[in-house]
Amino acid sequence: MQQVDVIIIGAGAAGLFCAAQAGKRGRSVLVLDHAKRIGGKILMSGGGRCNFTNMYAEPDNFLSDNPHYCKSALSRYSQWDFIGLVSDYDIAYHEKTLGQLFCDDSAKQIVNLLLSECEKAGAKVQSGCTVQSIDRHSSGFKLETSLGQFQCESLVIATGGLSMPKLGASPFGYKVAEQFGLSIKPTCAGLVPFTLHEQDKNVLAELSGISLEASAECNNTLFKENILFTHRGLSGPAVLQISSYWQPGQAVEFNLFPNGDLLAELINTQIQQPDILLSTTLARFYPKRFVQTALGYFALDNKPLKQYQGKQLEEVAEAFTAWRLKPNGTEGYRTAEVTLGGVNVDQLSSKTMMAKDIEGLYFIGEVVDVTGWLGGFNFQWAWSSGWVAGQEV
Ligand SMILES: Cc1cc2nc3c(=O)[nH]c(=O)nc-3n(C[C@H](O)[C@H](O)[C@H](O)COP(=O)(O)OP(=O)(O)OC[C@H]3O[C@@H](n4cnc5c(N)ncnc54)[C@H](O)[C@@H]3O)c2cc1C
Repeated sequence: MQQVDVIIIGAGAAGLFCAAQAGKRGRSVLVLDHAKRIGGKILMSGGGRCNFTNMYAEPDNFLSDNPHYCKSALSRYSQWDFIGLVSDYDIAYHEKTLGQLFCDDSAKQIVNLLLSECEKAGAKVQSGCTVQSIDRHSSGFKLETSLGQFQCESLVIATGGLSMPKLGASPFGYKVAEQFGLSIKPTCAGLVPFTLHEQDKNVLAELSGISLEASAECNNTLFKENILFTHRGLSGPAVLQISSYWQPGQAVEFNLFPNGDLLAELINTQIQQPDILLSTTLARFYPKRFVQTALGYFALDNKPLKQYQGKQLEEVAEAFTAWRLKPNGTEGYRTAEVTLGGVNVDQLSSKTMMAKDIEGLYFIGEVVDVTGWLGGFNFQWAWSSGWVAGQEV
């Protein structure tokens, strides 16, 4: 039986970061992960360049049944702290858009940073280890694993959510929470593309590859970014963002002319060039392939502008600026970037991440009911929650 101060299950972003902090405090730390390869998700993140944080991260960028829970951790270890660490490692980075910071070279640099921090702090990382059971004992926890028995004072669950099972995701963390009497807020796929009903898909699949500036709105939340038509449905940043707010059966309203007044443009053109076709006018703002398909999809005639009455031009503008689409569903955990819901944060301390009623048991990262927007916010939550727990375990 091996005895250590702290065992962390899950060697992802949150687990590794927590391990380094605890190790720096002189605690003996062991991180266990069932995956063969450490940091698989980080390596894939941000298209291989890891969007490691967001300059504008604040609590409003996170979804949770208790929106106050993330505040303390985000302020105690902020994006500026992590940016400072990235700079200490001479990792070159850039802002892509909207405060999103990516490595110039490779996500591997972030994995190396985490492993190097663990090594410096003396925290051991063990891959390929399956945890079979966890039991409480007098002064902590006893684990049965594929590599033998371990005992620890503090146990940190950092096993993430259900997204991308191919990368090692499992419901392990939720099961541990339930074993110790904690409740789980219902989980579902977030930051995920929409799939479409057959009648929409049949037409819109032709637009595969086209990306448009748009806003997407649902449940009083609006994101203005690009949308992307794919052969399976709709994707792109605005769609991924709004998917976290969407409930099955609801419609999403898209404005495909988010930066101006389409009706005013149509009326102006009607006055200046009355003989021009509607499709030619629209092709000034959209790819031609999109205009042809959209006119059919929205059941709009294609006539010279002079033949449209005021009301009809309003209808054209409305079709493009208030397009209400009912998705059929989402692509689910297979392609989702995150899992919404998770361990009920009301049962955890926001100051330490420890379960209020189970001394020594901590939950950090995506396994808890805190989910960030697209754009580096989920890693920031992993760093912030991991850092906070690392000061306590
Ligand atoms: C393709 C993709 C790209 C992403 N890109 C970004 C991005 O650019 N920016 C951003 O902010 N967020 C991004 N995210 C989200 C981000 O990766 C996660 O929110 C973040 O990694 C969560 O950190 P975590 O440590 O809680 O969980 P994870 O990083 O998922 O780590 C969990 C670890 O636990 C291990 N584990 C699971 N079950 C067990 C078990 N039973 N026993 C032992 N070990 C177990 C897993 O193998 C894994 O190593 C992306 C997600 C995906 C899927």
